[in-house]
Amino acid sequence: MKNIIITGGAGFIGSHVVREFVKNNPHSTIINLDALTYAGNLENLKDIENEPNYVFEKADITKPEELRKVFEKYNPDAVIHLAAESHVDRSITDPMAFINTNVNGTANLLNLCKEFWTLNPDHTHGRFPDEKRTHLFYHVSTDEVYGSLGETGFFLETTSYDPQSPYSASKAASDHLVRAYGNTYGMPFIVSNCSNNYGPNHFPEKLIPLCISNIINEKPLPIYGDGRYTRDWLYVIDHAKAIHQIFNDAKTGETYNIGGFNEWQNIDLVKELIKQMDEKLGNPQGYSEKLITYVKDRPGHDKRYAIDATKLNKDLGWKPSVTFEQGLGKTIDWYLENKEWLEHVTSGDYQKYYEGQYN
Ligand code: NAD
Repeated sequence: MKNIIITGGAGFIGSHVVREFVKNNPHSTIINLDALTYAGNLENLKDIENEPNYVFEKADITKPEELRKVFEKYNPDAVIHLAAESHVDRSITDPMAFINTNVNGTANLLNLCKEFWTLNPDHTHGRFPDEKRTHLFYHVSTDEVYGSLGETGFFLETTSYDPQSPYSASKAASDHLVRAYGNTYGMPFIVSNCSNNYGPNHFPEKLIPLCISNIINEKPLPIYGDGRYTRDWLYVIDHAKAIHQIFNDAKTGETYNIGGFNEWQNIDLVKELIKQMDEKLGNPQGYSEKLITYVKDRPGHDKRYAIDATKLNKDLGWKPSVTFEQGLGKTIDWYLENKEWLEHVTSGDYQKYYEGQYN
């Protein structure tokens, strides 16, 4: 495919996806479409900004006229859609921002694809002729759409949706819209739902970079409730590689769960982080444990997420390339080597938001 728009390419996961596509698709133009909200940062792409097959377009997905200009300029063959409001805590204080961006923004993109692409409504869900695939709408989503698990069980691609936060409800709505456009208009689509990502370029409002930043600065490490919330974690570069592989090799109309087969309770994860960081910073073992601070729980907090990525492994042979301990080590090294990045993103507006949340 010649022209591929990646929305949200200046964000955490998007920047790794853009890099993966720019490096592996030299004959395609990769158009990074991003509004550069507080979470978007072009510094994330410094190493590839001069590549001949990369361009950046500043546009807001909630503004159809801005999107139209980009569509008219590039006439894209595919859209890989990551742009979103992505932080659950923010969705609790400002749900409308999530509904505007995640639901309406996705609908705006789908409408433009419907207008620019010749679709065949006979090619409804599961009956897309892949050998003739000329267009694709790839929606990047989250495992949070499935809701919360008890102590056992896993999310499968067939698990019913049961979102619990305004964030996950807005992502569930956008997943439904993508499938509905496939079913109704013959829009060729793929959806993937991934577990929690971690790695370089992660904005420090999220647990792992927040704790890395606060251990460096000897500030409290806020842990919700009793710290027993369980999440599956995936190294972000493994997610980007999975998206590239699914984009190229998966059948249209498919859904894939992407996960690390890697569950951690928050408190154990923070202790592993402290262990590795104290070693790297030359502190006595356990030195930073005094920073652990239990804070009031988030409303509607999901107890456990665990994703079963067997289908992706069986169909396409994908599996994570690093263990959690290895990925965490690489992540800590990146933050220690890129303190300037951390300083830039933690100044100004974010500092005000952080103080409101945790002080
Ligand atoms: P992020 O918040 O780091 O980045 C979001 C990007 O979208 C930013 O660059 C931002 O500028 C851009 N954006 C926001 N609103 C926009 C708008 N109106 N128009 C254009 N651009 C806009 O998010 P992330 O963590 O990289 O997540 C990316 C996607 O992956 C999201 O769709 C998210 O739901 C999904 N996802 C995230 C995770 C995770 O662990 N972070 C896991 C699974 C799925």
